[in-house]
Amino acid sequence: MTKKKILAIDDQEDNLISLEAIFKHYLPGCELITALSGENGIRLAGQEMPDAIILDIIMPEMDGYQVCNLLKENEKTRIIPIMMLTAIKTDTESMVRGLESGADAFLSKPFDPVELTAQIKVLLRIKDNEDRLRDKHKMLEDIVSERTRELVSSNRELTREIERRKKTEKELREAVERAKEADKIKTNFLASISHEFRTPLNAIIGFSDIMDSDTSTEEIEQYAGMINHSGQILLSMVEDLFDITLLDSGVMKIKNEAFTLRNLCESINKTVHELQVKLNREELDFVCNIPEIIIDKKVSSDRAKIEKILSNLISNALKFTEKGKVEFGLSEPVNNKPDSLDFYIKDTGIGIDKQDQEKIFQKFTQVDNSFAKKYGGLGIGLTVTDKMVKLFGGQINVTSDPGRGSLFKLTIPLPEKAGESEDMQAEERFKILSARNILVVEDDDSSFQLLNIWLQKAGFRTARALNGKEAVDLCNKNNDIDLVLMDINMPVMNGYDSTRIITKQRPEIPVIAQTAYAVSGSLEKAREAGCREVLSKPLKKTELLKTITAYCS
Ligand code: ADP
Repeated sequence: MTKKKILAIDDQEDNLISLEAIFKHYLPGCELITALSGENGIRLAGQEMPDAIILDIIMPEMDGYQVCNLLKENEKTRIIPIMMLTAIKTDTESMVRGLESGADAFLSKPFDPVELTAQIKVLLRIKDNEDRLRDKHKMLEDIVSERTRELVSSNRELTREIERRKKTEKELREAVERAKEADKIKTNFLASISHEFRTPLNAIIGFSDIMDSDTSTEEIEQYAGMINHSGQILLSMVEDLFDITLLDSGVMKIKNEAFTLRNLCESINKTVHELQVKLNREELDFVCNIPEIIIDKKVSSDRAKIEKILSNLISNALKFTEKGKVEFGLSEPVNNKPDSLDFYIKDTGIGIDKQDQEKIFQKFTQVDNSFAKKYGGLGIGLTVTDKMVKLFGGQINVTSDPGRGSLFKLTIPLPEKAGESEDMQAEERFKILSARNILVVEDDDSSFQLLNIWLQKAGFRTARALNGKEAVDLCNKNNDIDLVLMDINMPVMNGYDSTRIITKQRPEIPVIAQTAYAVSGSLEKAREAGCREVLSKPLKKTELLKTITAYCS
């Protein structure tokens, strides 16, 4: 058993010596340590942590009350029981003060060693019990704090889990909302596509139906005009849809060709004139405002796409403006070599409400008003426009004053260094055109008829293969095929397989693919198979001839 430590604080050395004697005799199991001043006693108490303290009251500098006070105020030493030595047995005042300063027992001087021993033993028992209690308390506290820690951590985990679930739930709800919205848009779109397609189709079927051997030449001319016009409307819708798919799948690319803004303006003016007649807006003023200093400057960009963007915007401006004017122009460039083309289209029409201004660029969205209903449309014109502008790396925005008009502004960045334009190179080659043999691989009769007419009118000789297998055979047998125009989706053998065999057996014959798929990957697949160019259906006559000519010269 370890010896109990008792600290005696007394300024009288004699007292300490007699205490030592008493301890030796009566309390051999205890070790007495001594201090001759209050200050020293406090220091020793902190260092040694005795099991009890015997404290004299009357001491110079720091008396017993002060010492007791300081020991009891200290977190560490407050647990040590203190026995105070009062001067007289009946000194109640000293006892009260002693109690107030935190003393646990009193003994009056001169003390009886037996009484002192008994008191010390009581103090030690109390201290022992209190120590045990403190240990238990500490153990309990440890257990509780361990449990609390566990609880806090599982609570934190639970909170995180709840947050995760809430987030997932929110994402799910949003996904459902988006799916519902997409479904609604799709249903509306299908309804409007069916309506929009039916109108020109009715005209095409109706007029072609009434033509027979009795129809006069003038009537045939008139009906053919109507059929052509309806076909153009259909084509422009299909092209818009097609453009969106191409833009979304990343297949559409910017081509650079040299042109002047005067060229562009002339085309736009022509389109506007046709649109004014078509939309019954001949009374409207149309102003084209291109600064003189740049009108004849050659710029290099994708003219066809710029024209498409501008005619979409101008067509809308004309549609939604009954009186006043529509102005199209280019902001004056800051220097002679502009790094972008900054166009604007301004109208004095019905305008667009603030809340609709963001929406109109979204797919299949039209503002719900009588104008939109009157002129139909699929609600994709501005989507195509916006996506095309972004393809150039540019931007478009609209400001509008409902009832007074709208202003669309767009910036088309120009390439830093204009290389030799692809268009000019193609034009050069066009001049060396001579009769060439084209093998058209096409299973669909009407598509073949159209291609045949275009190619023959342009001076080419044509032959036809009905599928990929026939094309392979014909290329093997004939030495005079100069180029193959290959459809992709065909019975017996598709265009990819056929191209692969032809380019292996007759690598000198260029194969140009024509595909109706804007699905991403189809272009890469055709190129991988060996096609030199991939044209998308519906084919544009000039693009087709230009491409074929480039390979035949
Ligand atoms: P669509 O292809 O059906 O013409 P757009 O995407 O071109 O559709 O236009 C979407 C809608 O934006 C139109 O239905 C119309 O409500 C509104 N809008 C577009 N341009 C204008 C304009 N200049 N003035 C007023 N409203 C416009």
